[in-house]
Parts: sequence; structure tokens; C-alpha cells
Amino acid sequence: MSKVRDYKSHEILSTVRIPPTVPFAVRCDGRSFHRLTEELKLEKPYDERLARALTEACRAVYSEGFNPVLAYTFSDEVNLIFYGEQTFEARVEKLISILASVISVTVSEALSDLLGRRVRAVFDGRVVVLGGFEDVVGYLAWRQAECWRNFLNSYAHHILLRRGLTPTQASRELHGKGADELVKIIESEYGSLEKIPTWQRRGILLYRETYLKEAVNKLTGEKILVERRRLVEMWGAPLFTSQEGRELVLKLLEERRRSVTG
Ligand SMILES: [Mg+2]
Repeated sequence: MSKVRDYKSHEILSTVRIPPTVPFAVRCDGRSFHRLTEELKLEKPYDERLARALTEACRAVYSEGFNPVLAYTFSDEVNLIFYGEQTFEARVEKLISILASVISVTVSEALSDLLGRRVRAVFDGRVVVLGGFEDVVGYLAWRQAECWRNFLNSYAHHILLRRGLTPTQASRELHGKGADELVKIIESEYGSLEKIPTWQRRGILLYRETYLKEAVNKLTGEKILVERRRLVEMWGAPLFTSQEGRELVLKLLEERRRSVTG
């Protein structure tokens, strides 16, 4: 019998790693979700069940042992911000393939449960290298601008369909219209954008927070405060271009820097 060759050296991407000092994002995006939402007859312009499935997927990333600084989700995408991530030594191949798998499986299972039928939701994944903390804020602001654009287009399109236009006519009508004009169409139907859930306009943010919990020292019977961690879910992220949003992101990154550098 001939000798079996070892193909380890052919795994040409297996050593690509993100250095621990470099913050980065992993963005996972749903494949052919337009078709999927039609097929599943999801509510339009937004279906809360899809948002819940995506939020569950963000939680699953934490419970699978990853430790993103934060997770930001809207439409059919999940953004995970990492800094000093140790999981799989930050190997790019591992991160992308496992994170995309965790999200695909979790969204599929959650939607299957919520809709009472078998759903296969597939997500791709990519790494986005970020230069520093300001770049993280900039990246999130960029994704949130996309969330806002999606919101305007989905609602305006939906309103025109309800007014009797065909999808083609509605697209033609909205083509080239600026944000202000789309806002006017939505306001003409809803009065104020404030009446529409904030998460649809701004996306959903998740992060871990440390809090103090009262406990009893078993040896002395003394009351003590212990540190516990929990996942915060904000249905309606702050604007990442606002001071509030910026400060929250920078605070989470700073906390992580301290825990990484010790
Ligand atoms: Mg997509």
C-alpha cells in the first residue's frame, strides 16, 4: 500500500489570525432572505419573530463561549464586535465558520419554533478589521445608517402597496427619492415615526454588563456583594452618532481593554 500523504500544509488559511490589539467585527448576513421572508409569509414591513430569532442568535454566540464586546442586529444581519478575543486564538477561518454556523442554526431553530414549520436560514460571515475604538463607533454608525435606509424603504414601499400600487410601480415611485421624501410618505400614514417601534429604526443592541448582587458568606453568615454578569438587550439601540451611543460603545471597549491587559 502506498504511503498516505499529509495535507496539513494545504490548509493555507488556517494560520490567519487577528492580533489581540486589533478590534474587529464579524458580520453575518442572511442569504436570500428576501425570498425566505416571502416563502415564510413573514409580516411586512417588519416581523418581530425574525428580530427575536436574530436576538436569540446573538445570545447563542455568548453561550457558545465567544465574548464579543457587543452584538448589534437588524434586518437580516448580525454584527459582533470583538477585541482581545481569545477563542480559537482569533483564527479567522474558525471565527467566521463557527459564528456563521451558530447564527444559522439558532435562527433556523428559533424561526422553526415560532412559525411551527421547518425553516432553513443560512448566513454568510466576514471579518472587518477596525483600526481602533473610533473605527468601531464609525463601523456601527455605518451599519445603523443601513438599518435606517432599510427602515425607510421597507415602510414607504409597504405603504404604497397598501395604497394599491404593484411592487414594480412602488419601486418605480420610490426610485431616487431622498430620506426626507420617504419620511414624508411614512408620516402621511403613521403621523409620527415615533409611533413605530424604535428597534425597527435603530436596531437591537446586546452587551454583557457586570452588576452587584447581594449574597451571604457561607462561612461567616455575613451579607456580601458579589459581581455577576448579565446580558443586556436594548430593543432600540442608541444612535451611534450621538454622544450617548458613542460613550456606551467606548465604555464597553475600555472595560474590555482593562480586562485584556489586566
Ligand atoms: Mg441578506
